[in-house]
Amino acid sequence: MVGRFAPSPTSALHVGNLRTALAAWLMARHAGRGFVLRVEDLDVARVAAAPEVAAGQLADLAALGLDHDGPVMVQSERLDAYAAAAAALPTYECYCTRREIAEAASAPHDDGYRPYPGTCRGLSDAERAARRPVRPPALRVAADGASVTVHDRWAGPVTGVVDDFVVRRNDGAWAYNLAVVVDDLAQGVTQVVRGDDLLSSSPRQAWLARRLGGVEPAYAHMGLVVNAAGQRLAKRDGAVTLADLARQGLDAAGVLTLLGASLGLCTTDEHVTAATLLGRFDPAAVEHGAWVWRGR
Ligand code: GLU
Repeated sequence: MVGRFAPSPTSALHVGNLRTALAAWLMARHAGRGFVLRVEDLDVARVAAAPEVAAGQLADLAALGLDHDGPVMVQSERLDAYAAAAAALPTYECYCTRREIAEAASAPHDDGYRPYPGTCRGLSDAERAARRPVRPPALRVAADGASVTVHDRWAGPVTGVVDDFVVRRNDGAWAYNLAVVVDDLAQGVTQVVRGDDLLSSSPRQAWLARRLGGVEPAYAHMGLVVNAAGQRLAKRDGAVTLADLARQGLDAAGVLTLLGASLGLCTTDEHVTAATLLGRFDPAAVEHGAWVWRGR
């Protein structure tokens, strides 16, 4: 059994990401599971803007005492694996712009996602040949409107209709939904603990895992961390990274205590280590809902 944490190295981890990482580590280690890390650096443009971020994220996890097993997987080194997976799927080229999809699609989901209406599924060879010089295609998987239910540990059953989602973007980058599934299978991940902004992606990813000959992991989606106004935590909320907080005099152990308190495992005036929190951890009792960050 293996759990994981898979940050995108676009900016330093903030207390919300660190809390999710801690919960994922506790869930894995409590059950005697392995725990692996993965750098999700497929968005070449955003990652190139801050090349040192990935190393900083790994250092922050180590500073909190969250150890991991085996080598860290790096998505930018796995392009062949994504190409092989895509080649094994029924796919088609899609020439639609965002605007065309918005105009053709039904209303967006709560999370803003617009299911693809299948516009390009039936293009003839001649139609594709005519469009190719105008716009590079994205690649979509033909999912045939499959309906999939996953069972989230905290949210319960979540059902989604799987649309023909993108597996390779039209800038040539492999899509998150493809890479995450290929890599979880390759790393033997059997438990995914992550932010609940990805809950609605889970039926899609579970479908893909099965389609690729695997089985989806057990899911446990955590509430996000919000600011005092109830909005998703962001840099503008002030000191939210380990480095920011260190400048304010709060060391990694102090941050770990705040994170542990947010999970109901300690009080804010204790001094705890990751091992202390693990000794007290009970997956049935953990406070996994949204957490309001009011600063240190
Ligand atoms: N890389 C994604 C993120 O940082 C998380 C992917 C996942 O946990 O499935 O938002």
